Amino acid sequence: MTDSERISIVIPLFNEAENLTSLNDELTKTLNDLSLDFEIIYVNDGSTDGSLDVVKAINSKDSRVNYISFSKNYGHQTALKAGLDHATGNAVISLDADHQHPVSKIPELISKWKEGFEIVYTVREDDSKLGWFKKFTSKQFYKLINRLSETKIEPSTADFRLLDKKIIRIIREYKEDNLFLRGIIPSLG
Ligand code: UDP
Ligand code: MG
Repeated sequence: MTDSERISIVIPLFNEAENLTSLNDELTKTLNDLSLDFEIIYVNDGSTDGSLDVVKAINSKDSRVNYISFSKNYGHQTALKAGLDHATGNAVISLDADHQHPVSKIPELISKWKEGFEIVYTVREDDSKLGWFKKFTSKQFYKLINRLSETKIEPSTADFRLLDKKIIRIIREYKEDNLFLRGIIPSLG
């Protein structure tokens, strides 16, 4: 295991108490199997359902699991940014806490990174679980953004992705309050 293989996992969460233990078990198992050095950073975005207690319990048993906790709800992108700002790995993988992002894909993200890719995206293939309204609004949203902005964003991209430390350093320079990372990252390379 070399020092350059440290991976950080960043997970923003808002009222996910029910999902956290199973998610953490699956993550630790997947990462242990890859025999690399890792940390998991949970970012509690002002949950009111006991999520923080679950995170604290996991942290007390495993020092590789850390957390950041907001006293109120700031929104997913702000929570994600805080996690990226504190990550210490050579690559950072962000994912949601609600099992919508398959942990089983993490080894593939890491192997692409090892091939030399500094940004590894994921794209939703099957949106059948989403209602028509979400599908419609999501499509219109990306259409509009792509019309307004020079940087094109692939529709259906998720906040499940790997970023090399180089990219993280650039993102840390952005201090805006309302950061839309899905929009910024494609412009970085
Ligand atoms: N989340 C958060 N703050 C919020 C809302 C959501 O940190 O104010 C977390 C949530 O717990 C999940 C991720 O962000 O881990 C994505 O949220 P959600 O599943 O609601 O988004 P969607 O699946 O609709 O994109
Ligand atoms: Mg979700």
